[in-house]
Amino acid sequence: MSTDLIWQTVSNSSADTEQIGRELGMRCKGGEVLELVSDLGGGKTTFVRGLAAGLGSTDAVASPSFTLSREYKADDKTLYHFDFYRLQDAGLVGNELAEVIDDPQAVVAVEWADIVEDILPAEHLTIHITNVGDTKRQFKFSCPESLAYLRGEDT
Ligand code: ADP
Ligand code: MG
Repeated sequence: MSTDLIWQTVSNSSADTEQIGRELGMRCKGGEVLELVSDLGGGKTTFVRGLAAGLGSTDAVASPSFTLSREYKADDKTLYHFDFYRLQDAGLVGNELAEVIDDPQAVVAVEWADIVEDILPAEHLTIHITNVGDTKRQFKFSCPESLAYLRGEDT
């Protein structure tokens, strides 16, 4: 069994969080699954806004809380953004998630993934965002060694 890689960074503003997302997006090759964990208002959707930009998408990112999933087109990839907050049962949205996880051109970001933990591949990046002040957020990333390329030089 291999140990997960763990790294951390701090965001002091929404703009910082978007930048952290943008840098991660630029490192994605396609086929990545990102699990976003935080309290409501932690900054998950804000992070995904940057992620979309980093992938090269010019689409406007909005919370998928009501639509449950959204997709954003980038040049050669598609970002799928799921939010299971309002669901007790993954149902059809879970099927949709399972489908895009198999797409090597897809980058998949999931908020409130508890009910779909069994659908997520073992090899995914987990991002914990913790509120540590008014606009200050602690980011903790963890992933298996196979996703080490997602870690930047400066973290
Ligand atoms: P979530 O998707 O986790 O519920 P959102 O990204 O929708 O969170 O909302 C985060 C809220 O917190 C936004 O209103 C944003 O402006 C605010 N905010 C303040 N500081 C930060 C920060 N450092 N990073 C992200 N969001 C922040
Ligand atoms: Mg959200």
